[in-house]
Amino acid sequence: MFEQKGILFILSGPSGVGKGTVRERLFEQDTELKYSVSATTREARPGEEHGVHYFYKSHEEFESMIEQNELLEHAQYVNNYYGTPRAYVEEQLNLGNDVFLEIEVQGAMQVKENFPEGVFIFLFPPSLDELKNRIVNRGTESNDLVMNRLKEAKKEINMMSEYDYVVVNDDVNRAVSKVQAIITSEHCKRERIETEYKTILEDDLNA
Ligand code: 5GP
Repeated sequence: MFEQKGILFILSGPSGVGKGTVRERLFEQDTELKYSVSATTREARPGEEHGVHYFYKSHEEFESMIEQNELLEHAQYVNNYYGTPRAYVEEQLNLGNDVFLEIEVQGAMQVKENFPEGVFIFLFPPSLDELKNRIVNRGTESNDLVMNRLKEAKKEINMMSEYDYVVVNDDVNRAVSKVQAIITSEHCKRERIETEYKTILEDDLNA
């Protein structure tokens, strides 16, 4: 039809809600979306790869990225930095590709300031008990880290009101279908299409 700028989708929500799993399943099914690989100072977990799961950085390297304004957002989370490299996101959106971020809530709020037109999806746990089980059973972390993540998760749940959509993660496949439905609906939104149409019509009239 006509060239449209890509849409920025932000999947966020409390720690342990299953953002990573939903995102992975979504990307197994949706090849059109571009995933923005984050930078982090945390250690790679077994099986994780540089450039695929994260860009692993030292604290110094990360701080230099902040200073050079290379990050669209960044947050400190459980003693590590996490951030979204700006260049990739802007480049892909300008090419007309949809970009997908999976980030924690402080970062999502920064993205909202810079990209209010982004689509903010809050992944919600089926229950707080379930959330607690998931954080505890992840099993890769010490008790202190688990307690910290739980505390963060409770604070984060209160931020739901800042989001456009809420998806309950009671079942991964169901959650992924809902995210896909959101993506499809956003492409059909009158506001997005109308602006493009008007530009084309005006260009035509001025020609
Ligand atoms: P993990 O260490 O388990 O991979 O991620 C911890 C948290 O950091 C998760 O909630 C994840 O969504 C979030 N995260 C991953 N990448 C980014 C990022 O680029 N920016 C922000 N703000 N959070 C991120």
